[in-house]
Amino acid sequence: MSTLTITNPATGATIRTVPADTPDDVTAKVARARAAQPAWRRRSLDERIGIIRAFREIIERDKATLAALTTSEVGKPLGQSKNELNGLLGRIDFFLAESAKTLAPEQVFSEGTMVEVIDHEPLGVVANISAWNYPYFVGSNVFVPALIAGNTVLYKPSEFATLTGLALADALHEAGVPKDVFIPVVGGGEIGAALTSQPVDGVFFTGSYATGKKIADAAGKSMTRVQLELGGKDPVYVADDVDAAAAAAATADGAFYNTGQSCCAVERIYVHDAIYDQFVDAFVREVGGFVVGDPTDEKTYIGPLTRAAQLAVLDEQIADAKKRGAKVAAGGQRLDRPGNYFAPTVLLNVDHSMAVMREESFGPVIGIQRVKDDAEAASLMNDTQYGLTAGVYTKDRARAEKLLRDVDAGSAYWNCCDRVSPRLPWSGRGHSGLGLTLSRYGILAFTKPKAWHLRSPG
Ligand code: NDP
Repeated sequence: MSTLTITNPATGATIRTVPADTPDDVTAKVARARAAQPAWRRRSLDERIGIIRAFREIIERDKATLAALTTSEVGKPLGQSKNELNGLLGRIDFFLAESAKTLAPEQVFSEGTMVEVIDHEPLGVVANISAWNYPYFVGSNVFVPALIAGNTVLYKPSEFATLTGLALADALHEAGVPKDVFIPVVGGGEIGAALTSQPVDGVFFTGSYATGKKIADAAGKSMTRVQLELGGKDPVYVADDVDAAAAAAATADGAFYNTGQSCCAVERIYVHDAIYDQFVDAFVREVGGFVVGDPTDEKTYIGPLTRAAQLAVLDEQIADAKKRGAKVAAGGQRLDRPGNYFAPTVLLNVDHSMAVMREESFGPVIGIQRVKDDAEAASLMNDTQYGLTAGVYTKDRARAEKLLRDVDAGSAYWNCCDRVSPRLPWSGRGHSGLGLTLSRYGILAFTKPKAWHLRSPG
């Protein structure tokens, strides 16, 4: 039997070993999901929405246990695990409120005996391959609207958030989703690859650009619909008219929350020359105040990295930056303790010759670059293959909008950052992805339109 060992990233200790799938198991699971789909689709929309409402109640009931479980395997500080679960409730509420009207057939034309209607049919069987960093958010962005729309779902949590994924499956089943309608698939990357090679009707992936590219290539060959939510190198520009300390506190949180492991974490900061020194002083002070430690302690703000392999990526980025002239203003190295700990790190004197300003760090590391004006900031913000989010801090909304209109990113922030709203589409450009989740569009993403041309006799 195949197994997967779940490790605590804060200690390196084994938490549990769970049965894992083989490629043959994946084939059998896809067949079960295929067989179950017609009956699930025939259930009324109200009934499917009711089941997701029951799922919401279970999440609310089990919040504390779920938060502790996620913290144990992902290393996310407990308060932040709780925040994610509270956020999940809000996202489910959005889908509960919006799905019926979004999925209702829409009459778009009527003249004489002719009527035209757009209807929304489910895709069928959907593969949902998920990342570990926000296991509740990135999973539910897909499986909640997919199930409501009448799809069956094969859900592969990241191997680093497997217990959370299995707990989500238990909650959905308890709520009334049949076991063949939502099926967890357990394993590492090779099992994800086995799933994407199956005859499914849609592959919805959240993860890195490198894996997303492989998935897009495989889906292209079989002409399967594919949606990719990938990484980012999200910039923020701090203009000269803001309160430097307030902007520093907000952007430090945007960079270091979830130990920097957010797709929309602030990954690089450009600061107007006129307030650069003030901003940097405040930023470094802010970072110095972060509580680093045991993620099960409510006071902890920075926990371990989830994946040990990322420590080497950060080591390399920092070594490269130092070699090219960067100055380490805080942190700069791993912490000497068990677990995957890296000190919150601030790099100054950085520029775009350095990997740390161009490639995703996905950890507690930030580079701060001085710029002379808005035009230089805009040009640097666009100097990337990624296009997930971008932010501007200024008192002047028109100034921010002018700049952000020219930045090629799916989300634009004025005086905020590292923020996702269920009401707005979440999409990346370039290496940040293809397609979208959330918002009304993120419900329709799990459907295919049927165009009805209806002529009544006489
Ligand atoms: P990975 O790309 O490593 O993994 C994502 C998922 O794909 C995991 O379930 C993984 O399994 C699986 N997988 C790995 N190889 C394959 C393959 N060949 N075929 C199919 N599936 C495979 O990303 P991470 O989980 O490390 O997530 C971090 C990345 O996700 C960051 O780049 C981050 O920015 C991005 N992200 C983007 C978001 C967005 O909304 N745009 C939101 C959250 C994260 P396993 O883990 O078991 O190897």
